[in-house]
Amino acid sequence: MSIAENIAAIRARIAETAGERRVWLVAATKMNDAAAVREAVAAGVDACGENRVQEFLQKDALGAYAGAPKHFIGHLQRNKVNKLVGAVDLIQSVDSTELLHLIDRRAAALSVTQDILLEVSIAGEAQKSGVAPEALPALLTEAAKCGAIRVRGLMCVPPVAEKSGENRRFFAAMRKLFIDNREKKYDNVSMDFLSMGMTDDYLDAIAEGANMVRIGSGIFGPRHYD
Ligand SMILES: *Cc1c(COP(=O)(O)O)cnc(C)c1O
Repeated sequence: MSIAENIAAIRARIAETAGERRVWLVAATKMNDAAAVREAVAAGVDACGENRVQEFLQKDALGAYAGAPKHFIGHLQRNKVNKLVGAVDLIQSVDSTELLHLIDRRAAALSVTQDILLEVSIAGEAQKSGVAPEALPALLTEAAKCGAIRVRGLMCVPPVAEKSGENRRFFAAMRKLFIDNREKKYDNVSMDFLSMGMTDDYLDAIAEGANMVRIGSGIFGPRHYD
């Protein structure tokens, strides 16, 4: 199947599960070249998400995103913050006070407001990125002090599921965190997006309240790691 056919099939499945709810389809474009990314944009994804700053900058210079919103979805190293802030529409993977302040400082220097999501380590895997659920209120309190940042919601990357349906409890826990914290009304925070679900589990994620899914191999085919 072509990239456009894959996207059409995914859109149809999203619509079956989400009904009238609007769900953002973000193409996870890592390891796919500018031509493939352009094809996905032409077929109507809502945004493109990259994992590595260098790869993002190279493809951006080639015009790969063709006007589509640009997201950063990978682990963000402190020394790459200055290259990224202001160059992307949404940084989905902010998980520490230190990153918050680095992004805020850079955005203020550029006179822009940087939209971000806070990444939550919802399965409690110590080695993975993301803030622990119990530490989220402290991070939101810190974000309220950062005038050049706007927190637009939450994101998670749960473990690779061994069986289908296995991640549903994590998605349900994310939905609860999203709703609880949305009601608290912090400054600089508007809880609009719940970004969760990838190729193998996006329908479960949507059933549990995701309104943004990030899909890579389901759009572009399997990635080839050497
Ligand atoms: C690669 C990636 C995805 C998409 O993964 P697929 O299983 O290929 O759909 C989503 N989110 C993040 C953060 C990723 O790195």
